[in-house]
Amino acid sequence: MNYETLLERALSKIPEKAKKYSKYEIPEVDSTIIGSRTVIHNFKEVAEKLNRNTDFLLKYLVRELATSGVIEETRVVLQGKFTKEQIDNLIKEFAKYYVICPSCGKLDTRIIKEGRLSFLICDVCGAKNPVKSLS
Ligand SMILES: [Zn+2]
Repeated sequence: MNYETLLERALSKIPEKAKKYSKYEIPEVDSTIIGSRTVIHNFKEVAEKLNRNTDFLLKYLVRELATSGVIEETRVVLQGKFTKEQIDNLIKEFAKYYVICPSCGKLDTRIIKEGRLSFLICDVCGAKNPVKSLS
């Protein structure tokens, strides 16, 4: 047996790269109250982990907190004082309604629009469930 054959054999024994699964956990915010405003430093990261765009997540937060907020690059600045717990709870709620697949509980989902309706499509189990509109 020549070297090349041996090498090939050895390589074929290496297990296939573990399939990439996302972490099935809801990200936590890193926030600070500055004066009368609240800054969420890792807003972009949180949105990315949830696989939702920042505008959509912000729209949800400002509606629930009855305030206004602006995205500044990777962070968001909300008018008013909000604790990390308050925001984390809202992120969990958001995930429950707009991210987690009701059929299998995974976070690998996306929202598609069909006419005036929105659906949550799960990339893991393929389920399609209607989602509440945000506006
Ligand atoms: Zn699913």
